[in-house]
This record gives sequence, C-alpha cells and structure tokens, in this order.
Amino acid sequence: MGKRTDDKKTPILSSVKSVAVVGGGVSGLAAAYKLKSQGVSVTLFEADERAGGKLKSVSRDGLIWDEGANTMTEREAEVTNLLDILGIREKRQFLQILLEPLRWRPPENKSNSRVSDKNLTERFGSIILGAICSKFSQRKDNNKERKISSAERKKRRGSFSFYGGMQTLTDSLCNELGDNLKLNSKVLSLSYNHDGNMLLDNWSVSYATNRKEYSPKSSFDAVIMTAPLCNVKEMKIKKMGLPFDLGFLPEVNYVPLSVIITTFKKENVKKPLAGFGVLVPSKEQQNGLKTLGTLFSSMMFPERAPSDVYLYTTFVGGSRDRSLAKASVDELKHVVTSDLRKLIGAEGEPALFNCFYWSKAFPLYGRNYNSVLEATKEMEGSLPGFFYAGNHRSGLSVGKAIASGCKAADLVMSYLNSSEICSDLVDKMLTNWAACLDGPCR
Ligand SMILES: Cc1cc2nc3c(=O)[nH]c(=O)nc-3n(C[C@H](O)[C@H](O)[C@H](O)COP(=O)(O)OP(=O)(O)OC[C@H]3O[C@@H](n4cnc5c(N)ncnc54)[C@H](O)[C@@H]3O)c2cc1C
Repeated sequence: MGKRTDDKKTPILSSVKSVAVVGGGVSGLAAAYKLKSQGVSVTLFEADERAGGKLKSVSRDGLIWDEGANTMTEREAEVTNLLDILGIREKRQFLQILLEPLRWRPPENKSNSRVSDKNLTERFGSIILGAICSKFSQRKDNNKERKISSAERKKRRGSFSFYGGMQTLTDSLCNELGDNLKLNSKVLSLSYNHDGNMLLDNWSVSYATNRKEYSPKSSFDAVIMTAPLCNVKEMKIKKMGLPFDLGFLPEVNYVPLSVIITTFKKENVKKPLAGFGVLVPSKEQQNGLKTLGTLFSSMMFPERAPSDVYLYTTFVGGSRDRSLAKASVDELKHVVTSDLRKLIGAEGEPALFNCFYWSKAFPLYGRNYNSVLEATKEMEGSLPGFFYAGNHRSGLSVGKAIASGCKAADLVMSYLNSSEICSDLVDKMLTNWAACLDGPCR
C-alpha cells in the first residue's frame, strides 16, 4: 500500500508560514512532518548528529537490534494516520510469539508477585518499559477505549516494530523532511519579539553547530518545543528583549538505563524459554539477579538474527540500581552473563556484547506530574506561539509522543490561522486610519 494524503480537514493558510520545531525525536519529527504536509515552511533543529531520539536501531553482522524503544502500539488515532500517510503500514513487524512474559522464579522460593503484560503494554507501549515505569506512573488510561469495537481494540493493542527496527519509522519521517531537518543544531536560545503591528514573524532561534554559535536565524511565526524539560531549562528565552525566567520549570528526575545486547549460539543456551522476555522483580535481587529484564529479541523477531543464534536485549539500572546503569563494560558484562546463565542457562561468553547507556532514559515524575503539566501550560500561556510537546507532556510511549507532536502541530495551525486573521484586521485598521488622515473616515 502506498502513501495516502491526510484527509483530515486542516485550516488553509493564505501565505507560507514558518515554524521552528526543536528536538528531532519521534514527537518533533511527527510535528514537523505534519506541518510540512500542510504547506508550512518548517525547520527542525536536532542537537544530535542523528534524528530519532529514543528510537535507535542498529544493523550489524546480520543482526538488527534496538537500543531504545523496541515496540509500539497503534492505540492513538494519530499513529494510525501517520502510518497511513507515510505508507509504512506494510513495514510493521508484529511479535512472533504472543505468550505471557515469563517471570523467572527460583526453584525454592516461589513468589506471588506477577506482572501483567496486557496491562503494561497498554499503559506504556512495551512490557519492559512498563515494568520499569509502572511503579511511578499515576496516570489513568482514558475511557475513550471503551467506545472502540473489540476487534479494533485488539488490533490497536498489538505491539509491533518495523522491518529494520523502530528507527524505520523515524527514518521515514526524516526522508520526508529532507532539508527541513537540521542535525548537529543545538538550540541555545529563543527570542520572542512583537513590535506592536506584526502578529507573526515574532520568534528567532539561535543554535550551535560544530561548537560554533550561530546568530539568530530568520524569524519564525511559532515554535514547537519537544526537547526534554531538562534541556529546556538550559536554554535562554527572551521575551520582548528581557530574559524570560524559566525558574518555574520543576526539576525532573530521570532514570538512567543501560541497554545490553548479547548473542549466544543456540547450542550454548540450555534453557531457551519460549516467549518474548523475562521480567526480574526486585525481590529476586536476593537470589543474585541484578538485571531488570531481558527481551528475547530473536524470538520476538526471528529475522533479526542468523538461525543458529539467539539475540537478547537486557535492561540494567533504572531506579532500582542507578549506579549499576553506568557501571564499566566489564562489570555490565559480568552482571548480564551471570543473570542470563541463571535465567536461561546461557553458557560461556556471549558471541556479541554491546551496551548503550541512556543517562536520562525516562522522566520519573512520581507525584510531581501535575507541576510539570502546570509549568508547560505556563510557558505556553506566557509565550504566544510557543507550544510544548513530547513524552514529557502526555505519556512515555512512542504512540503518545507521536500523538503529542501531532496535536501540537494542529494547535500551531489554529494559532497561525487566528494570527493571520488578526494581522489582516490590524492591516485593515491601519489602512483605514491612514486614509482617515488624508480624508473622511470609512
Ligand atoms: C531504552 C528505552 C526503551 C523504551 N522502550 C519503549 C517501548 O518499547 N515502547 C514505547 O512505546 N516506548 C518506549 N520508550 C519510550 C519512548 O521511546 C520515548 O518516550 C519516546 O521515543 C520519546 O520521544 P520524544 O520525541 O518525546 O523525545 P526524545 O526521543 O527524547 O527526543 C528529544 C530530542 O530532542 C533533542 N534535543 C534536546 N535538546 C535539544 C536542543 N537544545 N536543541 C535541539 N534538539 C535538542 C534530543 O537530542 C532528542 O533527539 C523507551 C525509551 C527508552 C529510553
């Protein structure tokens, strides 16, 4: 199936408007793409040398793995729409094995705690992610779900990735954006100026590339910010020439996480459990297990490893053991191989060992979430044409980040429309006023 155009009714702008999007994670890419497809001149600034943010796939030696998000769901209408418009629905790769995640139990010490894959997948888009975050999330699912037919609900709840990994999604968005995407462009400051007549063209952005600071770029009509709040706090924002104090933004606590990829020859794995992963409850630490959980990546997606090899993705650290997340490679190797030996009987050294460290994998709000929402609203309320989106705003899952970016793009379109109408009115008033000076007023 090819691409289709966005059939959703969108406001049409009479002249080309320009919008800056800050942050090239999936939310910023979705926002920028949506604006571009509606005729807006968009510039997406990404600090890193690659776009995709927490979606990061690696393809090497006949293996494909994800160092960030592993799967997503299609529960948000914005995701359905995006997959259709990009024409990548057929590139989705569904989990091969739909079994309960297998929770390891020591032979003599059976514990009662269980983790429900259905519940965690619904809430976080991933079992492992859910296991890591569920403890801290206070938010409730919204009840809209109930109105969808059960067949549709089932389809949307199914977790999937893409052939080539999750980055296939963000790579497709990057391809569509082309030159609109500026990599290695870290936004340092934003400035809002409004000279009294012009209601648009009020924002300028300064950014650094290759350690060189660039003076403010040409003006923008609006800004969508999708960078994590910790990065926003580092930016300098000016309003009408005066510093805009971001002191009201709360300190957000982040969870560090190491994602470890290992492969073992099948003959070296003595208890190759069938399923898509193992969660390790914290009480199993007393049995010497130190990892948070492991995805059986080559069982979830068999094409991602040669047929004689098992590919595993193990998570270490999190809020359970922050210091372990950034342990040395040798220590991580020891911890992971020791746990995999106990869990699945993986013997010897892994054929491949790769680790990726996320210093700020997830924002951890606890009971602090309302203050985050209030602060983002305050930013938007005080800065005309400024919109905040991303996983800090409406939920951690990939689907929710996409939905957040698309909603911000819609809000920008409405803002540009209303500003355009206001600008027209101001123009007309000024013309009338000028005419009054020359002769009788109309
Ligand atoms: C290890 C891991 C596993 C996960 N697993 C899953 C999963 O299986 N399923 C699921 O649904 N979700 C999962 N998630 C969560 C999900 O991937 C993220 O919540 C989501 O991708 C966040 O997207 P985002 O666009 O909001 O933010 P990000 O991806 O964090 O993007 C923000 C971007 O802003 C850029 N930036 C920051 N500062 C600046 C600046 N000053 N100027 C310009 N750019 C800047 C950053 O470089 C980054 O690219 C996982 C996350 C992690 C870390």
